[in-house]
Amino acid sequence: MQALTNKVEVVSREPLTFWERMYLPAILKGMAITFSHMFKKKPTINYPEKKRPFSPVFRGLQILNRDEEGREKCTACGLCAVACPAEAITMEAAERQPGEEHLYKEEKYAAKYEINMLRCIFCGFCEEACPKDAIYLSETFAPSNFQRKGFIYGKDDLLIPDPIKEPEAFAKARGSRAAHPEGHGNEH
Ligand code: SF4
Ligand code: SF4
Repeated sequence: MQALTNKVEVVSREPLTFWERMYLPAILKGMAITFSHMFKKKPTINYPEKKRPFSPVFRGLQILNRDEEGREKCTACGLCAVACPAEAITMEAAERQPGEEHLYKEEKYAAKYEINMLRCIFCGFCEEACPKDAIYLSETFAPSNFQRKGFIYGKDDLLIPDPIKEPEAFAKARGSRAAHPEGHGNEH
């Protein structure tokens, strides 16, 4: 077939030598490379058994906070939703009823609170905007899921465990922030 350009490079096809036809030296060379890697330090870790320490400024999954008595702090003011550049947060406010003072710290609370994790860019603006220290970005991340609806996190998914009823789960959820039980100084 005639070449369309003059850029054709003729490749020399030398016949294989005796050792090349044996293939053994090439196999041994490949095995030597493989074995040499067995004694090198692994660049990977055995996740999830082992986990890398996160950066101190890591921003992960949001947590809806409670006070030291276990009451929900969120007052459904909507400032986090307004601050969110990804429009990932939605909520519905409700009035606290008499007898519910042990459940909700403020007179208004979020009856429904949702974050779309597929939209969230973990910028932390919701935490910064919150005047009640009711939301913060934790040291964990949203696990993978096969369905889009699995990434819509509701209040049940986001609310921190009750510090009175489940102190261990509460401390675990707070992570290193357990050293600051009153939060990040955002409460007014
Ligand atoms: S971290 Fe940023 S993107 Fe995610 S919910 Fe908060 S404000 Fe929105
Ligand atoms: S999390 Fe904070 S900013 Fe968002 S609605 Fe609740 S109190 Fe307001």
